[in-house]
Amino acid sequence: MREFKNFIGGELVDAASGETFEAYNPSTGEVVAAVAKGGQEDVDRAVGAARQAFDEGPWPTMKPAERFRIMLGIHARLEEKASELAMLESENGGHTARMANLFTVPYAHEFWRHLGELASTLDYEVPGPSYDFPAPAWHQIRREPVGVVGAITPWNYPYLMAFWKLSPAVATGCTVVLKPASYTPVTTMALAQILAESHLPPGVVNIVAGGGASVGEALVTHPAVNKISFTGSTEVGRRIMQLASGTIKRITLELGGKSAQIVLDDADLDDAVPGTLWGMFMHTGQSCEAGTRLLLPEVLYDEFVARVVGSVESLKVGPATDFESDLGPLINRTQLDTVHRYVEIGQEEGAKLLTGGERLTEEGLDKGSFYAPTIFGEVDNGMRIAQEEIFGPVLSVIRYRSVDEAIRIANDSIYGLAASVWSSDTIRAREVARRLQAGSVWINSHHIITPATPFGGYKQSGLGREFGPWGLGEYLETKYVRVEQLAPKDKIWNQIIGVGD
Ligand code: NDP
Repeated sequence: MREFKNFIGGELVDAASGETFEAYNPSTGEVVAAVAKGGQEDVDRAVGAARQAFDEGPWPTMKPAERFRIMLGIHARLEEKASELAMLESENGGHTARMANLFTVPYAHEFWRHLGELASTLDYEVPGPSYDFPAPAWHQIRREPVGVVGAITPWNYPYLMAFWKLSPAVATGCTVVLKPASYTPVTTMALAQILAESHLPPGVVNIVAGGGASVGEALVTHPAVNKISFTGSTEVGRRIMQLASGTIKRITLELGGKSAQIVLDDADLDDAVPGTLWGMFMHTGQSCEAGTRLLLPEVLYDEFVARVVGSVESLKVGPATDFESDLGPLINRTQLDTVHRYVEIGQEEGAKLLTGGERLTEEGLDKGSFYAPTIFGEVDNGMRIAQEEIFGPVLSVIRYRSVDEAIRIANDSIYGLAASVWSSDTIRAREVARRLQAGSVWINSHHIITPATPFGGYKQSGLGREFGPWGLGEYLETKYVRVEQLAPKDKIWNQIIGVGD
């Protein structure tokens, strides 16, 4: 069995308590690794190392291009290790082998590379606007790294999320303490091993595994942490917002979603049928931006439903490590039970179960947490299955009569993370996109989030934006430096409080 240590001040170390916890393979139920179980003392040490690296170390004051050069060296090493990391993501994260190799791992590395490069091109010191009230002065605007960042990631995309947090922080000159989700720590801890051998100065990145209530809350309340960047459930996001208020931390929250996929009556079905299924079922529906509500116009409803049900029934659900599997497992039995409970709720609410709705237990799947991709028809948007984040392979199909009604339904949610519009007329689709209350809207696409463009939620889907200059800005403070231009005798205080001669 593999063993993983925490990464503090440049060293791989056991937890202060000496304790470990086990990480599992969701396809087989087997233990895949023992991981150091951090607690308050480990967080104190990691924050201390990050604080020292920020306050005394070279990282925040280093030239951005030099930081990028070090990041590129790490990128090359990561690429060498890509297939090994993809295998670990399949084993512990349940990412299918095809997804892990073609998407999760290379995509994660691209966030590191692109954000490192982007940060090296930003202007960190610019002249301010010309402005001479109440007196002429020379203004300078500086952008400076925010300090020590506490990063907390969820279980669904552990490796990718580690990069979503580490890349902007490291690139802008911050230092970080990262806590991975307890179900899926393995690839983040493997990353720690790679970073331990890199040219990153000690303390710039620290990784401490352990529980949300212990390690997570210790980070969120730590007085020496300046910012929290969190991805996970809206419920925990609310708690983090409350706890972080004690020390007025900067926060970025990327939370839940119940994204709508609106198919317009002029959609190309050969594109929209597979596309909306990808929007829903990628990673077995365990994605915050998954398009879990499929909005169909009356005129297309029957044909579209028949085609999506047919396609879903041909998907191969299987062990994540198998290159033949289209969909892998749910993360664990608890999530499986949650998903099944929602299926029961959907039936009790009167939605029509069109396919799926059961755990898969045939040979080869019986020890894992596999669930059949499920589609409900005739869903009313007021139903719980249309309002609550299920985080599994359950699609709700909703009928609409007019585009105005479709937009109303899409926006009738506490969430506002993402949406997609499927149409042959991009001008029409863009007008629909304009009216949707969502942080990302894809036209004839879904899920594609890039390091160059902003990502984040409206309403209860989050706070702040990740990626591109917008995301890097969340890791920078803005400082105003003012150089007075007037002679001493003309300075404003002479007139107001009369302290001059
Ligand atoms: P959580 O929001 O509970 O966990 C996300 C991360 O936060 C984990 O690292 C977790 O640690 C940590 N955490 C938990 N409690 C606290 C706390 N009080 N203070 C600080 N950090 C904390 O998500 P879950 O993994 O429990 O999933 C629950 C549901 O959330 C899912 O079923 C799904 O609906 C939704 N979810 C949404 C995600 C999204 O991207 N929008 C991602 C993951 C889940 P630990 O793992 O140790 O508990």
